[in-house]
Amino acid sequence: GTIALADAATIEAAAAAAQAAFAGWAATPITERANLLRGLATALEQHRDELIAICCKEAGKTIPDGVAEVREAVDFLRYYAARAEEADFAARGLGPRGVVLCISPWNFPLAIFLGQVSAALAAGNTVVAKPAEQTSLVALRTLELMRDCGFPPGVVALLVAEGKAVGEQLVPDPRIKAVMFTGSTGVGSWLARQLASRPDAPVPLVAETGGQNCMVVDSTALPEQVVRDVVNSGFQSAGQRCSALRVLFLQEDIADKVIEMIIGAMRELRVGDPALLSTDIGPVIDQKALRGLEDHVRYLDATGRLLHRCDIPETGEHTFFAPRLYEISNLSLLEREVFGPIVHVVRYRAEAFDEVLAQINQTGFGLTFGIHSRIEEACMRAADRVQAGNIYVNRNMIGAIVGVQPFGGRGLSGTGPKAGGPQYLSRLVTTGEEAENAAGQRELPAAGSRPGANQTLAASNTAARLWARRGLNERVSTLRQFLASYARRPEEDQLVLEHTLTAVRDQLRYAVDLLTAPKSLPGPTGESNSLHLEPRGCLLLLLDDDRHNGEYLMAAVSALVGGNSVTALATEELLPEWRALVTAMVSAGLPDSLFCVHPLAAADGLLLDPALGGVMVHARSRHLHAVAQKLATREGPILPLISCVAPTTLLHQTLVEKSVSIDTTAAGGNASLMTMAN
Ligand code: ADP
Repeated sequence: GTIALADAATIEAAAAAAQAAFAGWAATPITERANLLRGLATALEQHRDELIAICCKEAGKTIPDGVAEVREAVDFLRYYAARAEEADFAARGLGPRGVVLCISPWNFPLAIFLGQVSAALAAGNTVVAKPAEQTSLVALRTLELMRDCGFPPGVVALLVAEGKAVGEQLVPDPRIKAVMFTGSTGVGSWLARQLASRPDAPVPLVAETGGQNCMVVDSTALPEQVVRDVVNSGFQSAGQRCSALRVLFLQEDIADKVIEMIIGAMRELRVGDPALLSTDIGPVIDQKALRGLEDHVRYLDATGRLLHRCDIPETGEHTFFAPRLYEISNLSLLEREVFGPIVHVVRYRAEAFDEVLAQINQTGFGLTFGIHSRIEEACMRAADRVQAGNIYVNRNMIGAIVGVQPFGGRGLSGTGPKAGGPQYLSRLVTTGEEAENAAGQRELPAAGSRPGANQTLAASNTAARLWARRGLNERVSTLRQFLASYARRPEEDQLVLEHTLTAVRDQLRYAVDLLTAPKSLPGPTGESNSLHLEPRGCLLLLLDDDRHNGEYLMAAVSALVGGNSVTALATEELLPEWRALVTAMVSAGLPDSLFCVHPLAAADGLLLDPALGGVMVHARSRHLHAVAQKLATREGPILPLISCVAPTTLLHQTLVEKSVSIDTTAAGGNASLMTMAN
């Protein structure tokens, strides 16, 4: 096939087509939309061999990777169709947002492409879809299948185009009501900044970006399982998966033996034509990717030690890159994600286990993490401490299954919610309240020399960590105690007070249901899969309109019950009342610094504080736009602006998701003997 990249007029036409199709699609009953998605799933299965062939020719995917690719796309279609029917957003007063811009990468040209598109469609939005330039043909073929299945014209407007051209033209376009992106961390941050500068900011961005994925192997691990999982996780798909293993930490006592076994397994790998079933590893995507990997090899040759390099076929011009195993002295030598089949080994001493986990967190990335150990306590400790979105215990760390291991990272690795998880669709619907607010926006007051302007979040950060460790029961009972004292406030309008308190108490009950135990997810026998919710840390809460006091209280309690700390910023008028509230909270047993209030002038500094985990702003706040803009000037992770007024969505947004997948059949032998005291 051949492609021609879209020009400005074509890009405009795509946005116009998706916009024109929106009203009709949004009004289509959910069962009808879901049936179209399921029809497409069936069509993909019917055209499976053809699609695998295109993935192989266009993206260099091996046949097994092609099989998994089609299967994942099918899973996404059926999963989001079912979740949208179940959620019944319309009945809850939530509607689609409008046109969603979906920007997808080449490494899962069908699965990620259709994952984004199907979620947006299931929620009732229409889509401008921008697949990666390298894999436009498979997207074009998918669109033909969609037409054959009866999707109305314009519901998905496909743009075969250069990323930058589409970004520059459509991201500022007010018709685009949300952006879904999977790709590099750099482009993700660029998109966040562009969206923040729009007059109608905040515009939701769901970004899935890179990782620096590590696996820790201690001396109790079963070496055969480790080798199998390292080779799969590091080299399958030529390491071109966001989830792929990049850094392998081996306890020094077993390192030599395990390295020797990995090298043995690497000798068996066949790099070559991905169309041949005998091939394990195909080419990398293009010359640019190859040059990037070769640059990294030069860097490693100077800073590390080559342990093994696979053979590649001797052909003319090609983009094969030989899988390599390198030893490096420490993780900090790796400054960025290297997207290819290179596994870096770092040795560690048993006593340094916790330090290794801390180093992994310090990278700022948080996508996948693996641990191999037959000591359950070590596995659970790592699963708990490592701030990654997907944790894999005694198994490989790639190939997340839709609905079983919801996928996505935190920090520099993405914004959440997780793809193929229960919260994904909720980002794609709206109460419509933000839109009402576009006029009458205010700037944030400048810090200047006003009191409170030099606050930092350091104390609040420590308080959040201690509070989260106290456990749910204690947090809930402290908050209930506070609410009891709040109910006795004399000066309030009793009716309003009762209404607020009932809503907040309901929220606490919902939080208990949600947080008491991780949600266990369906999966095959021998595998345990669960979805955990963890606090974001320090959250800012903007208090700028006394008509919203009840909703502010709801926001504060929702954040606190999940284990976050709250630093509120109040206008002069609201300051005294909320300071009194802090005193009431502290007398009810809430720790100091967990909930505090500063004047609004401190916003300037606090919004840029490195410890910040997110900001809660009322959907109708006149400072919403200014906060969105300020937040986007930060370096590093894209932080959430939590502006939703629906309480359950609000609670979910104060939390981050973590999928934990355990191979429960892997702990060969009686591992409990190893943890006995004598
Ligand atoms: P990779 O390095 O994996 O190709 P990119 O982030 O460059 O990652 O690309 C992922 C997707 O983002 C592709 O579809 C690409 O065309 C698109 N893209 C790249 N730059 C921009 C941009 N400035 N605006 C919008 N989309 C972009």
